[in-house]
Amino acid sequence: MPGRGGARVTLPLHGGCQCGHVRYRLSAPPLVLYACHCTECQRQSASAFGMSMAVDREALSVDWSRCGTWERKGASGRTVACRFCRRCGARLFHEPSRNPAIVNIKPGSLDDSSWLQPVGHLWVRSKQPWVGVPDGVLTYDGQPKDFDDLFAAWRRVVDNLFTIPSVSSTG
Ligand SMILES: [Zn+2]
Ligand SMILES: [Zn+2]
Repeated sequence: MPGRGGARVTLPLHGGCQCGHVRYRLSAPPLVLYACHCTECQRQSASAFGMSMAVDREALSVDWSRCGTWERKGASGRTVACRFCRRCGARLFHEPSRNPAIVNIKPGSLDDSSWLQPVGHLWVRSKQPWVGVPDGVLTYDGQPKDFDDLFAAWRRVVDNLFTIPSVSSTG
């Protein structure tokens, strides 16, 4: 059973929107998980911060016809397609145009979100002052120059977190 206290997480992962109209299934471990304290994430979540869980698009099963889309243009000029449930409006996915192989899931939508522990915190200069950042995680004053360190930190935890179905290997 997935859960707190170092228990392992078993694939596939399932999640969905608040009303249940949109459901998704993830068949491979996420690529990275981080929290973002930028003002856009605060606005988008209508809360204190956002979390992003990048996944391989090919590992994600979802009926996209049940999602509405709003496109946001970032400061860089690149767009992000923001997908939400057509019925309840819950934001579920962000699809960055700069990397079509990846989908960012808003991971609070997972059926079991108890194991989520971001390996990094972005835009801490605009974080709410009462929000604490745990020791031992990566922190960035603003936007990271790249995500290499975040991906690497996540790879170090993912093997201990996930029960990965065994695959045949020729060694
Ligand atoms: Zn919904
Ligand atoms: Zn953000």
